Amino acid sequence: MDINDPIEILPSTRSDTFHKLNSLGILSVWDFLNYFPYRYEDYSMYSEINKLQPGEIVTVTGTITNLRNIYTKRGLTIQEMKLEDKTGRTTVRWFNQPYLTRMMKKDSRISVAGEVISQFKSLELQPKEFEIIKDNKPAIHTGRIVPVYSEKGGLSVKLIREKMFLVIETLRQKGNNSIPLLLPLEIVKFNGLMEETESYFNVHFPGSISEMRKARYRLGFDELFVIQLSAALIRSAWNEEKVGHVLKFDTPVEKKVASFMDQLPFKLTEAQLKAIGEILIDLQKSKPMNRFLEGDVGSGKTVVAAVASYLTFLNGFQTLFMAPTEILALQHYNTLSSLFSKSKVRVGIQTHTYKKTAYSQRSLKINTQVKDDIVVGTHALIGKKTKFDRIGLVVIDEQHRFGVAQRAELKEKGVNPHLLTMTATPIPRTIALTLFGELDLSVLDEMPKGRLVVKTYLVPQVKRNSGYEWIKKQIRDHKTQVFIVCPLIEESEVETMKSLRAAKAEYERLSQQIFKRFTVGLLHGKIKGKEKESIMQKFAKGEIDILVSTPVVEVGIDIPNASIMLIEGAERFGLAQLHQLRGRVGRGPEQSYCLLYTDSDEEKVAKRLDFFAKHQKGIEVAEYDLKLRGPGQIFGTHQHGYMDLKIASLSDYDLIKKSKDAVSYFLTKNKITEYPHLLQRVSVQDKERISRD
Ligand code: ADP
Ligand code: MG
Repeated sequence: MDINDPIEILPSTRSDTFHKLNSLGILSVWDFLNYFPYRYEDYSMYSEINKLQPGEIVTVTGTITNLRNIYTKRGLTIQEMKLEDKTGRTTVRWFNQPYLTRMMKKDSRISVAGEVISQFKSLELQPKEFEIIKDNKPAIHTGRIVPVYSEKGGLSVKLIREKMFLVIETLRQKGNNSIPLLLPLEIVKFNGLMEETESYFNVHFPGSISEMRKARYRLGFDELFVIQLSAALIRSAWNEEKVGHVLKFDTPVEKKVASFMDQLPFKLTEAQLKAIGEILIDLQKSKPMNRFLEGDVGSGKTVVAAVASYLTFLNGFQTLFMAPTEILALQHYNTLSSLFSKSKVRVGIQTHTYKKTAYSQRSLKINTQVKDDIVVGTHALIGKKTKFDRIGLVVIDEQHRFGVAQRAELKEKGVNPHLLTMTATPIPRTIALTLFGELDLSVLDEMPKGRLVVKTYLVPQVKRNSGYEWIKKQIRDHKTQVFIVCPLIEESEVETMKSLRAAKAEYERLSQQIFKRFTVGLLHGKIKGKEKESIMQKFAKGEIDILVSTPVVEVGIDIPNASIMLIEGAERFGLAQLHQLRGRVGRGPEQSYCLLYTDSDEEKVAKRLDFFAKHQKGIEVAEYDLKLRGPGQIFGTHQHGYMDLKIASLSDYDLIKKSKDAVSYFLTKNKITEYPHLLQRVSVQDKERISRD
């Protein structure tokens, strides 16, 4: 077995297991090795039966002397096993798993890991894991520090563990170099890192807790090293590029830009002026701009992008303005049309559903050239079909980075424009510089004056109904409108069938019982195009009082009359995500409210949500979330939603700093071509560049 072999090399594995693995993006042995556990259970302490102590978590190995199903009056079943070793006898009980008695046989040897409890005046073992011991094979699920994997895609943790064990054992037999060298030994030594192959063995089946920590540290280091090296390579490639159309910023142009800023209906904030200044400098250079504009929801990013588009227009070039969804595109189209209503700038929209052009005042057919000065659309804009005239600037809203593939697509069309990427996800500065190191950063850290704070309240289970009553009164008295967001059902960014069903059920409950005198609408990801538009329009016109939606629906929607946001199952959301949702209200002159419904009575949950309720700034909320997880914490941070990190923790500033220093050292001392495994892991575009050199 080689790490580059396809995963199908795993012996005695069912084809549907391969399908499931493939669906998680696991195509090779290497991919599988990088499917890391997200936590561990320590079952490494073996105990003889006569030495059991209440409260201990132990593994007991013995013989099954008796096994039976007990049927209770309520229709439950208990599987009761008597387990014996040479020192004594104990009882192990499972509940409602009748198949267990079929799987296990009297007189066979079994290893059970669990907690020792006092029961009926004797000690019993409350099982957490067990396995039948056959032919002296080593225990996998008991008697060791056991890895726990996420059961995504329908794979059971037991199955993953068994397959992983096999892979690790096979590689172990191949010896210490079964995983090729990633980093120069100097860097490994200088940072006191565990050797790479050793780290892979220990991350999955650690010999001890401290080895597991070292392994995770090493692999986190690798992960951040690769990201930062990729960023450094992209940045230096970018520095050598020439922008397609150089923009000039002479006195007449400067005057026009200034008067555009003067005629805006509001005074720009200091932060907006600073960001605009940075962008205007970038736009005059001959290398393309690659700037990241970060600013809280409502901080006014659109107008900053509008000024950049205006400079582009004055030079005779087009701006493509891309949003993640059609509805947001439509919103931008309306905003930009009104911002430019007094100028000669022609604004158009090109999406699947909406096709309007100011240039000819007619709908466009596919394949025609789009000549508007600003073309708003979704990310599909740069797809193959539409042709553009003269792109000078591309603005991308609510996306973290502009993909290598998308950039390549633009280049294929013969343009190399300036890029401005915008996000409302609050990303602390150190993290932005680590993960998005190839971009220049501008931050809008100030809100326009006079915004009302969204009053945020935690609503526990007992106050659920009075919360609903309060909402009814608000709708009646103030004609306000309400968003109700359903809880996240699974830890998933995309909308699963399960979430969809849950949202439908919640919609039925709310529309037929709680709010039956009001108009309630439902919005989810399966509702498309025109129908979605009609629901949104009804909501915008006030024909719907309450809009129930799944969590992933429409980031950045703007309905000024909606002043109440109710979030169900608030404890399941990351604070950054809650912040995004809260940003949907508070956009009009009325006082707005955010109600966090939770059925959890855990103190931890209450504390976290309470912090959120008391803080309005996205960045504070995000930093608190990071701190809660604490540096040195061992789990990954994919929940942050900044980027899919597999193992590194973004709250570990020490790790970030060390890996960053290592990248600088590497770039001065080493040649990446001499590290093929590293080369394989940096992003595609860099490889092209390197092979060109
Ligand atoms: P976001 O950063 O979330 O994209 P928008 O660009 O949509 O925010 O701006 C939110 C609202 O604030 C818009 O209605 C916009 O017109 C308004 N706005 C932007 N800048 C200012 C400002 N400096 N003063 C007052 N209102 C502003
Ligand atoms: Mg926006």
